[in-house]
Amino acid sequence: MNKRFDVIVVGAGPAGYVAAIRCAQLGMNTACVDQWLDGDNQPVLGGTCLNAGCIPSKALLESSELFERTQRDFSLHGIKTAKVTLDLTAMMARKDQVVKMLTQGISQLFQANGIHSFYGHGRLLSGRQVAIEGKEEKPLVIEAEHIILAPGSRPSGIDTAPLQDKTVVDSTGALLFDKVPARLGVIGAGIIGLELGSVWRRLGSEVILLEAQEGFLNMVDEQISADTLREFRKQGLDIRLGARVVACRRQRNRVNVHYEDTTGAHQEQVDKLIVAVGRLPNTDQLLAPGAGLKLDEWGYIHVNDQCCTNLPGVYAIGDAVRGPMLAHKGSREGVMVAELIAGRHAEVNYDLIPSVIYTHPEIAWVGRSEQALRDAGVPYLRGNFPFGANGRARAAGDAAGMVKVLAHAETDRVLRVHMMGAHCSELIAEATIAMELGASSEDLALTVFAHPTLSESLHEAALDVSGEAIHMARMKKE
Ligand code: FAD
Ligand code: NAD
Repeated sequence: MNKRFDVIVVGAGPAGYVAAIRCAQLGMNTACVDQWLDGDNQPVLGGTCLNAGCIPSKALLESSELFERTQRDFSLHGIKTAKVTLDLTAMMARKDQVVKMLTQGISQLFQANGIHSFYGHGRLLSGRQVAIEGKEEKPLVIEAEHIILAPGSRPSGIDTAPLQDKTVVDSTGALLFDKVPARLGVIGAGIIGLELGSVWRRLGSEVILLEAQEGFLNMVDEQISADTLREFRKQGLDIRLGARVVACRRQRNRVNVHYEDTTGAHQEQVDKLIVAVGRLPNTDQLLAPGAGLKLDEWGYIHVNDQCCTNLPGVYAIGDAVRGPMLAHKGSREGVMVAELIAGRHAEVNYDLIPSVIYTHPEIAWVGRSEQALRDAGVPYLRGNFPFGANGRARAAGDAAGMVKVLAHAETDRVLRVHMMGAHCSELIAEATIAMELGASSEDLALTVFAHPTLSESLHEAALDVSGEAIHMARMKKE
């Protein structure tokens, strides 16, 4: 067997598999090592994103949204339904099928691109070698001119809520419930807590989210975070801020969660508890002694803007390095590194990585945070437009939320766009393209948007930067 390659990629999540495909497209003899096993104990590509993250969570978000809308909204449209019932087994089987179809798609892409796929745990040795501990007794050692480390991340936990088989679970376990829990506790009202909390609430759970911070979604625009908090509470998500979990005790099949906030000590009994308090890089078993790779104090691989590590020819990308833990950020880094190895110029614009929270309404943003703009003393103007004044949103009966555009006060260049509303995960791409091309709010204002579309709200928010929105009598400027 060939043991020498141009490039070895460790990890086949959206960072690693995209890097491997791009390397192969650029003519490099590429190997990719991954250790993920599916529910049938078979090696499978796609990493967290496809197997236990983006894809299964979005499949359940879609199904649960349909389940809720059928009961809540259909009658408003004059559609009568008989009693709507849930077949959770079928819903879960559909989710698994979606995952299978997509992971098989990556295997086909690997085959089509001639990528050598190895199953097993990869460990970086010195001298650009990787030892693979797979199903065979002895590790296989392969080597390459270049190594790309993309080991991803795993859920982090807290000592006061250790995982317990099928009762206290992480995000992976929360995608596998075989019954809708009557009462569901979630520790952490971050992205995972809100997305998975929404799934189970829509399917019938009473959901209590315990968030340690006093603020809600601190990375989101203040007004949007206040509006979404109100909206989520209206939907029935019981979000408790400033809540520090101090202990969890199992009582038969239920869990007693003890927590404290400024008003004192409290207790809630739940059927299932999801721990969703962030993720940690998968680097603890990645390095053989003497590999010489520099990690930071949290275990992230130390890299520069071009994802070069301290070792020549060794790169690291995705969740295991600094920056947001997002699939598309890792994929973009994978493409950049492949192109750098091929001797091309490549970079990632870290200021323009869009973020989306796939709740309903969806929350999306792109650009440097308002705080970062303030800290840097950048003067900016704001334009807002509510979906309530948008014809398409009204016609759909789904008009919560708004679009906000921040533009430089002197150059008019668009610096940040925030959105909250239906389909904002798609709309944010329009803002991202405009910003990538250096558009001003006037450029957006002069662009013709199809009518009636939700995108017209982006147009109107851009017009509002100079106080010229058409479908809004006046929007108070903060
Ligand atoms: P991963 O996807 O974690 O892949 C790393 C791979 O490397 C895994 O297959 C792992 O088995 C393998 N590996 C690790 N160590 C080794 C080793 N030593 N040897 C061999 N193989 C190894 N992001 C979004 O952008 N949008 C979303 O909607 C979204 N939803 C999410 C929902 C949930 C519930 C979760 C948990 C995450 C979600 N994310 C989302 C985050 C997203 O999944 C990650 O940012 C993304 O998967 C990171 O990609 P990666 O390739 O760096 O790592
Ligand atoms: P997160 O950082 O979004 O949220 C974790 C939350 O838990 C925070 O609000 C934090 O204050 C809170 N927390 C931490 N310790 C706590 C404690 N002891 N008690 C109570 N609350 C506590 O992390 P996450 O939701 O676990 O998601 C992990 C990562 O996965 C995210 O950073 C995100 O990048 C990625 N992800 C992205 C998407 C998406 O793009 N739509 C979806 C899911 C996950």
